[in-house]
Amino acid sequence: MSLIADTLLAYLPPKRKHTPSGWISFNAVCCHHNGTGADTRQRGGFIINGGDAVSYHCFNCGFKASWQPGRTVSPKLKKLMTWFGIPDDLITKITFDALRLKEDAELGYKHQLVPTFTPRALPINAKPLHDCVNNKEIIPVLEYLQSRDLYLEDYDFHWTHKAGFKNRLIIPFYHNKQIVGWTARSVNGQNPKYISEQQPGYVFNLDNQHWDRKFVIVTEGPFDAIAVDGIALLGSEVKEGQHLLINQLRREVILVPDRDEAGKKTVEQAMELGWSVSMPDWPIGVKDVSDAVKILGKPATLWLIIKHRMQTELKIKLRMKQYFDD
Ligand SMILES: [Zn+2]
Repeated sequence: MSLIADTLLAYLPPKRKHTPSGWISFNAVCCHHNGTGADTRQRGGFIINGGDAVSYHCFNCGFKASWQPGRTVSPKLKKLMTWFGIPDDLITKITFDALRLKEDAELGYKHQLVPTFTPRALPINAKPLHDCVNNKEIIPVLEYLQSRDLYLEDYDFHWTHKAGFKNRLIIPFYHNKQIVGWTARSVNGQNPKYISEQQPGYVFNLDNQHWDRKFVIVTEGPFDAIAVDGIALLGSEVKEGQHLLINQLRREVILVPDRDEAGKKTVEQAMELGWSVSMPDWPIGVKDVSDAVKILGKPATLWLIIKHRMQTELKIKLRMKQYFDD
């Protein structure tokens, strides 16, 4: 129980009556302070809600006071405590305590903004791809990986023979070593391109950012992220909460935007967040990190990203013109 509920309960006037709904009634302590004759018919009521919150009502003079966790002690409640005969130093302590609770509650609220995720199941019968290598049905999936210059070992890819998923590469979404979602990429042009189970605020591949790098590379798609061991927004937008998870890594954040209209907006967001942006001179036809790795390989792509990162808005804005309009 809260200190307030505890104390008020201890100082309630004598001759109390408990009602089935939880109210405790007694002769009200407020009335003569409010210019009304003293209560003799037990018209003062007190209740504790949820173990912590308190409410006082007088049905004689109409005085009310209440408190709940996350609120400060109101002047009315202070008066009530005095009328109950609660010592001043205890009222001071209670007031201070409520303020601390309020601050804690506010901190808790801020923490809540950092997204959290609950475990999710992969599509039925999904198995690690390397457990399926003897199955001829996965050949299109393997060919697709090869076309992206990716290997079985590059990520914990999965596959299932379940209808609708046969020609899809399943990418589990991990967070703190738990599967919290997935996406299944079509490998034969079948629509939709992606079937996904994704929780709000999720950032792809955060779990694989445990090394010594001083930076983290932010990309749009999962394949971009896998290609350079970066993370992916899973879209062109930094969505609510994603930046908090990313900033928690406490590294230099480098956004590599896709070279399209949506990429421009991502850059605007990155500038607002104080992130670096890298818009390298990719070879002709390269529109994202994944394309670049296919042509240049991983080391050269990474080197270009690091070399071309910039932080000042003016530089970024100038570079955007060439990057997006060429
Ligand atoms: Zn009263």
